[in-house]
Amino acid sequence: MLLDGKQVSQVVKTTLKTQTDELLQRGKRAPHLAAVLVGNDGASETYVANKVKSCAEIGFRSTLIRLDGDTSEQTLLEQIRILNMDEAIDGILVQLPLPKQISEQRIIEAISPAKDVDGFSPVSVGKLVQGLETFVPATPFGMMLLLEHYNIDTKGKHAVVIGRSNIVGRPMSILLSSNLPKGNCTVTICHSHTHNLAEICREADIIVAALGRPGFVTGDMVKEGAVVLDVGITRVKDDTAKSGFRLKGDVNFEEVSAKAAAITPVPGGVGPMTIVGLMKNTLDAYRRKLDT
Ligand code: NAD
Repeated sequence: MLLDGKQVSQVVKTTLKTQTDELLQRGKRAPHLAAVLVGNDGASETYVANKVKSCAEIGFRSTLIRLDGDTSEQTLLEQIRILNMDEAIDGILVQLPLPKQISEQRIIEAISPAKDVDGFSPVSVGKLVQGLETFVPATPFGMMLLLEHYNIDTKGKHAVVIGRSNIVGRPMSILLSSNLPKGNCTVTICHSHTHNLAEICREADIIVAALGRPGFVTGDMVKEGAVVLDVGITRVKDDTAKSGFRLKGDVNFEEVSAKAAAITPVPGGVGPMTIVGLMKNTLDAYRRKLDT
């Protein structure tokens, strides 16, 4: 079975649009996301453009703040301070990665926890670990929505998460092990120092591949009937493509789809679900603030 993130994300967007329309009908203002883009990295440009476009589709307001690639950390901190104080802004997103002269950690920590719709701040992560209501990072959130949509059985299953980044692997391992409708897994988290990774994967009922190495997970690493979520997005040079590149996931789709019970494609799997995760967080930020 194909876990069709493109289609499911449309379903979630339709629900979000209905909820937004209803707010407007009640005379409320629309939720408002501010996105900050520093520099002009090609992939970041695409991600931010998709987020802004999705806001428009749902009926959210969005403001895109573009800063030069040589912007100082101080200037970006000042921009965040302004957005934190702006009553009309519900969610703040700073597109990562940031240029070398800026500490990502300092920027993440500067965003008000009430507007941290990416869920990257230590406050949000602490709450996630403790099972408290918070903003769940968009990519793991999107994957949990996908598991819910297809009603994938996770209880008591062995989930192997490859990658331990703060934005994907680590929070996904926490969610899958939490006492949630699509949690309660026994989780193994693998990283670049893991021994016998292939062996560990072969024991997995659920594999989340989030390492950024195209085609890393091959057919021989996957148990028959496993559920495979492919987070990887790598631009691989391809002269036959109009853009000059093709997007490749971390999973060898051809080999693994022959064995998996369910699998996400790249593109059209986890990527679109990430966007709706962010949109849901933005609506939540709005609701918590305005208590509507
Ligand atoms: P990252 O570089 O921050 O982390 C990669 C992780 O993989 C690290 O924890 C590292 O230990 C582990 N790793 C690297 N090589 C490994 C190996 N050979 N064996 C085992 N573990 C290994 O990356 P990230 O930000 O978590 O992103 C991972 C991938 O997911 C990238 O391709 C990125 O573009 C993609 N991504 C996609 C979405 C989406 O919406 N679909 C969102 C975020 C990231």
